[in-house]
Amino acid sequence: MNIARLLYPVRVLGPGNRMGIWFAGCTHGCRGCSNPELWQMQKKYETTAEHILEIVRSVAASSPIDGFTITGGDPFLQKDALRILLPKLAEISEDILVYTGFDYEEINTGENRDILDFITVLIDGKYIEERNNNCFLRGSDNQRIHILQKNLEKFYLNYLSSGRNQIQNFRTSDGFISVGIHNPDYSRELHERLLKKGIIRV
Ligand code: SF4
Repeated sequence: MNIARLLYPVRVLGPGNRMGIWFAGCTHGCRGCSNPELWQMQKKYETTAEHILEIVRSVAASSPIDGFTITGGDPFLQKDALRILLPKLAEISEDILVYTGFDYEEINTGENRDILDFITVLIDGKYIEERNNNCFLRGSDNQRIHILQKNLEKFYLNYLSSGRNQIQNFRTSDGFISVGIHNPDYSRELHERLLKKGIIRV
């Protein structure tokens, strides 16, 4: 499987302290995508389910993992990886939120039932820059939030009714990673601020 990064605790892509898992590989080519560096699967991102689960379990041994947010890239381009990982992650938390650039109707087929059965919330659809109006948890307002597991429906409806987008920055071996739903001007504004503070040069 090709997985670019795991981050914890992610607090801005779903409720609680979550483990964020970024799959590499995406074919949707959305203009203004905030993760174009993840469009290509890369050799350096090749890993195994055992390795991913080892990391997850070592975090879970010392800190609460309230849920998982799986994004990318598009996780639905690696369905076999989802088939292996999701049941194991669900043993730690049944709250699994997945982003995909496909529409729900495209993936809601019998063939994917064993994957969808483990997804609590699916946020679907391509990112459309012109429709980025800061809607909660969604890059653009054409994307839809599907609560697939009824046992967490009330919990998520409460969370969705009170939440607002926030940004979290992580320092990683690849540099700073900014996590969350960004407005279209975010990259330009960040660049200007870093220039102003002398952190980067023109
Ligand atoms: S589906 Fe997501 S990762 Fe893929 S291009 Fe669109 S915004 Fe980027």
